[in-house]
Amino acid sequence: MDSLQSRLSEIRVRVAKAAAEAGRDADSVTLIAVTKTVPAEVIEEALGLGLRVFGENRVQEAAEKYPGLKARWPGIALHHIGPLQSNKLNSALQLFDCLHTLDRLSLAEALARKAEAGAILPPIYVQVNIGEEPQKAGIPPAEADDFIALCRDRLALPIRGLMCIPPVEAPPAPYFALLAAIAARHGLAALSMGMSADFETAIRQGATHIRVGSLLFGDRS
Ligand SMILES: *Cc1c(COP(=O)(O)O)cnc(C)c1O
Repeated sequence: MDSLQSRLSEIRVRVAKAAAEAGRDADSVTLIAVTKTVPAEVIEEALGLGLRVFGENRVQEAAEKYPGLKARWPGIALHHIGPLQSNKLNSALQLFDCLHTLDRLSLAEALARKAEAGAILPPIYVQVNIGEEPQKAGIPPAEADDFIALCRDRLALPIRGLMCIPPVEAPPAPYFALLAAIAARHGLAALSMGMSADFETAIRQGATHIRVGSLLFGDRS
């Protein structure tokens, strides 16, 4: 039976297996259910199955769906996982409980200004362009150390982890391992890596947050 419930059970089994293979506790991996293009009724079904951690990549779409859901279902944690424009920061800070894609200095400075003006910043992850791909956002690996230090020390941002999207055409394990190594150098606990196609590999390399959309909700048309 191909239902949301059966897909979720299968993902949980695979998460537990990958965690066990890595000598990790399955509880150390948070499944972020990525709900871009998924209608609110289906998200309600996911909530009914116990899911509480969700990811959206567009502020506007999240603003249409989540205030209502958050009012009805306690305990929702909403993660922003897509490109973030500085001019959407106010809405983003109202809606999201974690930001995964701090990918440039101007955004870091804009976040610091919001904090100075009194905003409470949620946990922030730095996005690293781990495969150094021109079409992808993120800080190049060679610049990540300096960028992380600057965000924490000079801008006092609550940097809690790193996020990456590895190249599609190459085996992802070395890229995940590189992200994990950078995070370890800085004592950053959270590693947001792994999607529908590669979450088990990501877990074996230390992912604490996997972002799964299509495997859970079906293909996005
Ligand atoms: C859409 C999206 C995902 C989920 O991708 P699937 O392959 O559908 O699991 C994960 N991370 C980001 C940043 C995304 O935009």
